[in-house]
Amino acid sequence: MQKLANDILLKSKKLTEKGNVAEYIPALGKADPNKLGVCIADMHGNIFTAGDYNNKFTIQSISKTITLMLAIMDNGVENTFNKVGMEPTGDAFNSIIKLEIVSPSRPLNPMINAGAIAVTSLINGKDSKERFQRILDFFRLISGNNKLDINNEVYESEKATGDRNRSMAYFMRDVGIFEGDVEDILDVYFKQCSIEVDCIDIAKIGLFLANRGIIPQTGERITTENVARIVKTFMITCGMYNASGEFAINVGVPAKSGVGGGIMASVPHKMGIGVYGPALDNKGNSIGGIEILRQLSKQLNLSIF
Ligand code: GLU
Repeated sequence: MQKLANDILLKSKKLTEKGNVAEYIPALGKADPNKLGVCIADMHGNIFTAGDYNNKFTIQSISKTITLMLAIMDNGVENTFNKVGMEPTGDAFNSIIKLEIVSPSRPLNPMINAGAIAVTSLINGKDSKERFQRILDFFRLISGNNKLDINNEVYESEKATGDRNRSMAYFMRDVGIFEGDVEDILDVYFKQCSIEVDCIDIAKIGLFLANRGIIPQTGERITTENVARIVKTFMITCGMYNASGEFAINVGVPAKSGVGGGIMASVPHKMGIGVYGPALDNKGNSIGGIEILRQLSKQLNLSIF
């Protein structure tokens, strides 16, 4: 497995030249587009790593899967999906268009920004500080890394420039998807996106999902099998932005990407995979990261289909 990881990394590295780092959040524009790393964590406690696997990056949209788990644990399945739908959009992650034209007015799924902001508003807590602390504690628990924290520069950068998310959030409050202080809810969302991780952290979270909500090392059940199943299903149908269909065909494993360059994959009953490569393709997915996952899936026969 170690040799395979090294070989695949080397082959995929060429592709990074064809991608671009995200710049719409200015601090993300500083990432080195040549970086590429992978971590594979399996059920037996083995960890295989290659390349820039210990490079830190912000989790961005991968966080949407994790807050969704916590929101369902806090509110139940029915109450959560009264606020956010279950259907893929085919639109970009930050698209506003369907918010107004779909009736009843609610974001189509929790993996697009509007849906994720609605999900964040569902997290229990007396104020935004407590809400974010609960989110961070949950990230730490399921990654097994109690040092996880936010990258302040990225957080400030997104907070200063996130007007598209702001406009969606105000629209959603207007149509009654949530109540309360919009800036407070956005603050929690921006912070959750700015949590800094490496490939090992996201591979371990992917493994936790692959193991149906149980931490493999300790045997501790953190969430129900049903919650883990719902989240993995969203990863298949909408985890890779509007390239999710193509990814399902070429790779065939539940995965969620983020504009920071990370992709978290969860191969049911087998392994979690974390990849990092900030050079993105035109849909916002790590270009080298997708290639690593495609090759791993092909060589190890990982597609669930
Ligand atoms: N924080 C980013 C945003 O809201 C997350 C986007 C992503 O990773 O897809 O724009």
